[in-house]
Order: sequence, then structure tokens, then C-alpha cells
Amino acid sequence: MKLFDVYPINPINIVKGHGSLVFDENGQEYLDLYGGHAVISIGHTNPHYVKRIEDQLHQIGFYSNSIEIPLQKQLAEKLGKVSGKEDYQLFLINSGAEANENALKLASFYNGKKKIIAFKKSFHGRTSLAVAATDNPKIVAPVNETDNVIFLPWCDEQALELAFHQHEVSSVIIEGIQGVGGIQVASESFLQKIRTLCDEHNAVFIADSVQCGYGRTGKFFSHDFAGVDADIYTMAKGMGNGFPIGGIIISPKIQPAYGMLGTTFGGNHLACAAALAVLEVIEQENLMQNAAEVGGYLIGELKKFDKVKEVRGRGLMIGIDLPEELANAKKDLLFKHHIFTGEAKPNVIRLLPALNLTKAHADRFLEAFKTVIQ
Ligand code: PMP
Repeated sequence: MKLFDVYPINPINIVKGHGSLVFDENGQEYLDLYGGHAVISIGHTNPHYVKRIEDQLHQIGFYSNSIEIPLQKQLAEKLGKVSGKEDYQLFLINSGAEANENALKLASFYNGKKKIIAFKKSFHGRTSLAVAATDNPKIVAPVNETDNVIFLPWCDEQALELAFHQHEVSSVIIEGIQGVGGIQVASESFLQKIRTLCDEHNAVFIADSVQCGYGRTGKFFSHDFAGVDADIYTMAKGMGNGFPIGGIIISPKIQPAYGMLGTTFGGNHLACAAALAVLEVIEQENLMQNAAEVGGYLIGELKKFDKVKEVRGRGLMIGIDLPEELANAKKDLLFKHHIFTGEAKPNVIRLLPALNLTKAHADRFLEAFKTVIQ
């Protein structure tokens, strides 16, 4: 059987890693500033993380969701504490698309309405509602097409107000910082406007934090910078540091009825052990502060390069917008300097490293970047 090619594949076989470093089969070292698309939050093979999963695997890996799993309660408590959203409820699934799918569905259960407001260049996943709310017609199959989603320009308060007056809005879904869309930071006033309009119209504010959440920006949720609480936060990626787990947290205003939400694998013992280890490391090693400091340093230094069009982002979610003549920068970083980065169209380099990226590794990148753009 042949493997289906999902993405353009780099001809590099990564077989080992620790922290922000990974190694290929020949022992060549690479600096990982991509983290498998914001997944690696506490670094590769963190010893506490490895041990917690290993210990759990020796106990029990999976049983069934029809029993009490104390690890789920521990995870909910810890997540409440680290995120500051202690009065929310946690529902566990396995991916970002599933998180958004459940959030959009739950919003409609809650207020009985159908219209979803999403934004140009947004990405929310590839399942039916998540993909319908994603601004990329190429990945929407005919069966997913719906007129229930209204796409608005990014951060346009007037357009938002008008849409609320024209439609029965069930929910607004927004990334605090668009990731796939090229690292676009939502303005604080726009997030506040969403909060006000959702309150006035009994709509649900969904904060897609799959990529920009989990401490990456220096705050647990990037929407926190606006000083507003969303009704549902969706999470995945960094939550398990590579172990598949996703979750939604639901404000007390929404109380899902028994049976509305369900899953086979969500919240299994192993996934909970992985997610608990991640939160423990984030807390013990003060990783949100590190993300703010090292990220702030990187952004400051990158802004000094004349050839860069724009540097966007917060903490360790950084977009470097380059002019067309530097379109090869990402490839050069990888093949000449052994540094993995991400990209966004048309010509943005995305940095999504582990939250414990060191200043020394940041400097190694800056040195290489300087060479590449000269
Ligand atoms: N939301 C955002 C903001 C994302 O960046 C992604 C993945 N790129 C998703 C949702 C979907 O997550 P998953 O691939 O785990 O389904």
C-alpha cells in the first residue's frame, strides 16, 4: 500500500529529540522552532512527561468513559488553576477540529440559533462545522457547504455590528491570533466588541485557542490580553505535547444537558497523564513567563531588520513577513542552518517553538536569520 501524501514532505528523517533540538538518522542536529505546528509546548522528550506517561501505561492505558477517571478531575482542577478559569467545565476530546466542532454545536444547542460568524483567513479544522467556518474553499467538500457561516473582514467592528443586526447569530468563533492566516493579532477593542455584542444578542463567544493558547503568548489564552472572558475556549496542539488530546472549557453560563457531548477516546488515562505532565511543567518551570520574555526578545530583535516587511505576534507565536525576494528564507534556514520553521502564505515565516526555548537558541536563530536575508 502507498502512503497518501498529506503535506509536502521534507526529506529529513527525525528520529530523536530533546528540548528544542531534534536529530536525524545520521545524528545531524536541528533547532526546532516549529514544534510540529505549535504542538511541542514543553520540548521534546521532557523527562517528567515521559515518566508520567510511562508510569500510567504500566497502570492502565484505556478502559472506558463509563467509569470515573480521577485523572480527568485532576486535569480539570489543574487547568482551572493554571488558566485562571476555575469556574468553567472541561470536556475532553482528541484534536483541535473536534474541539471547535463541539464548541460550535454546543453554542447552537444553548441558544437554538444557527448563524456562525467567522473571519477571513481563519482556520478552525477539517471536520464539518469547523471546516465550514474555515476561510479556505479548497478544503470544503460540497457536503460541508452551508449558508450558516458568515465570514467577516478581520477586526472590522462596523461589519460585526451590522452582521449582528442582520442575522440570528448563534456564535462568533475567533482565533486570538490567526495562525494559518499568517500570524494576525486580534485587536483588544475588537475582542471586547465581540463580548459586548454576544452579551446583547445571547450569542456565544468561542475563543479558538488551539494554536495561540496554552501559554504560548505569555498568557494562558491570548484572548486574555483583551481582559474579556470567552464563553468557550477550544484547545488541542500544545495540550499534550504530541500526545493527541483536545478540550473545550465551558463558562458557567452554558450548562450542557446530559448526553449532548460524548466521545470514545476523549479523556483516556494516557492522554490525561500527558496533559497533566504538560501543565505541571508549565507551572513548575514558569514557562508562560519564559514565552513572554524570550518571545518579546525575539520580536524586538527581528524588528531591527530593515529587510523584514513586518514582525507580528506575541510571546512565542511570531510571524516574520518577508518581501518576495526573500521567498527562499525558510528553505535556507532549514537546509543551510538546520533550523525548522513554519510558513504561512504568501511569504510569512512562522515561529512556534517550545515554551522553554532558551535565549541562546533564540540567538542561534537570529544569527542564522541575519545570514539568510543578507
Ligand atoms: N484551530 C486552529 C487555530 C488551528 O491552527 C488548527 C490546526 N492547524 C485547528 C484548529 C485544527 O486542529 P487539528 O489539526 O488538531 O484538528
